[in-house]
Amino acid sequence: MMTLLTCRNYINGQWVDATTGNILESYNPALVSEVVATFPRSHTEDVDKAVATARQAYSSWRKVPAPARAEYIFRVGELLLQHKEELAQLISREMGKPLTEARGDVQEGIDCAFYSAGEGRRLFGLTTPSEMPNKFAMTVRMPIGVCALITPWNFPVAIPCWKAMPALVCGNTVILKPAEDTPGCATKLVEIFAAAGLPPGVINLVHGVGEEVGKALVEHPNVDLVSFTGSSETGAFVGATCGRTHKRVCLEMGGKNAQVVMEDADLGLALDGAVWGAFGTTGQRCTATSRLILHRDIKEEFTAMLYERTSKLRLGAGYDQDTEIGPIINQRQLQRVNEYMKIAREEGAKILIGGEIASEGQLKEGNFFLPTILDKVTPDMRVAREEIFGPVVALIEVNSFEEAIAILNNTNYGLSSSIYTHDINRAFTAMRDIEAGITYINGPTIGAEVHLPFGGVKQTGNGHREAGTTALDVFTEWKSVYVDF
Ligand code: NAP
Repeated sequence: MMTLLTCRNYINGQWVDATTGNILESYNPALVSEVVATFPRSHTEDVDKAVATARQAYSSWRKVPAPARAEYIFRVGELLLQHKEELAQLISREMGKPLTEARGDVQEGIDCAFYSAGEGRRLFGLTTPSEMPNKFAMTVRMPIGVCALITPWNFPVAIPCWKAMPALVCGNTVILKPAEDTPGCATKLVEIFAAAGLPPGVINLVHGVGEEVGKALVEHPNVDLVSFTGSSETGAFVGATCGRTHKRVCLEMGGKNAQVVMEDADLGLALDGAVWGAFGTTGQRCTATSRLILHRDIKEEFTAMLYERTSKLRLGAGYDQDTEIGPIINQRQLQRVNEYMKIAREEGAKILIGGEIASEGQLKEGNFFLPTILDKVTPDMRVAREEIFGPVVALIEVNSFEEAIAILNNTNYGLSSSIYTHDINRAFTAMRDIEAGITYINGPTIGAEVHLPFGGVKQTGNGHREAGTTALDVFTEWKSVYVDF
């Protein structure tokens, strides 16, 4: 049993209580009777304070040389390394993912720290010849100002790092509003940023409810940029509000990712990819494989292999050594996944395995859903079009490569995608024709490495990308400078 964490807001370099005195709780999704952290239900006044302090800190932080700003982030990376295991244990306890994955979550933050720190010595602009004599022409990157970072619970360390690290290196100040389900992880992470010695007001943390704190940040006249990761529904609100209030906005939203398995694929490899893509993080990844598009020649054999592997997956608490599949984050999401089983049946899909809330032994104490395979799914069914965000994968049979790509693209989302084939022409055609931000050839629909852009098309994103040098395009503004001499 872990000690109960008491989380507070972090504003102007101080850990402070919220103005309301209302306290909320996060709990262990594998054992719902266990409270993991308490945190304040902050009010708009707390948001106002955080924004005012971030605004004030911005005036000096933007003038700190970028390599010096980057040194703080390098230090954050070193501290994350030191505290990796402690943070991973907390992620498993509060969010539920297995420890190996939780370590990966922290490692993303570490990689992002060292990568972003390197950017502090680059932040390149451009020099070009001028059309005029006696004139130099160049571009420089300018910070944007005060950034609100609104993050989900499924990568409670990695996602805040993806946003805060490049934002700070670029000279912005930030206010983090983490998900209600993982306030403990956010608090420990901000403690690490604070321990790296960042000046007061440069990073701030305001806990609370999305419709209150998140909304107040998005609407705030003194916030210049909102970087949001979460559902497409909330993202639509965030995007519309930022449009009305003239803020820059970066949206990373849902997915309905597909893995195609062609008849010439290495089925063992494709199976490993499908199991990891569909059931890793209990299917609660924006990049989760929720559709398996299978060529008819291998459909039966591959389905049998998948069934066999799925039936052996071990469910349990993330922090238990043997666990392969952890719990669903909360009751609301558990019920939502369960609702989709009813929808699947009504639409004519067949539940091959799983399809229900786990009811045996210890699993009853948490939010566990059995890993589920839906067969006889057609592309028009809701289970083939809507994001379920649980351990559920839909099998769709196709007759050709062309049909596979058309069905893969037949979705409102476009985050990750994958095709297993040995045919180089199909691989390159897929690379060209798949409508998604990420395409894997002979790999599962997982995310990206920190040095490559991460994000999606259609209702998954609004064109901006996280990670890589493209993150700099989110957190800086170009200025063209002409010098006459
Ligand atoms: P969510 O409900 O949209 O919440 C995301 C964040 O927005 C949370 O911090 C939430 O606060 C806050 N929020 C809620 N209502 C708000 C409002 N009216 N104004 C401002 N902020 C508000 O999403 P989620 O359930 O946490 O996360 C799952 C979703 O995230 C999935 O759709 C998944 O695909 C997507 N996701 C996308 C990516 C990507 O990079 N594309 C990565 C990970 C996850 P509360 O927690 O207090 O409600």
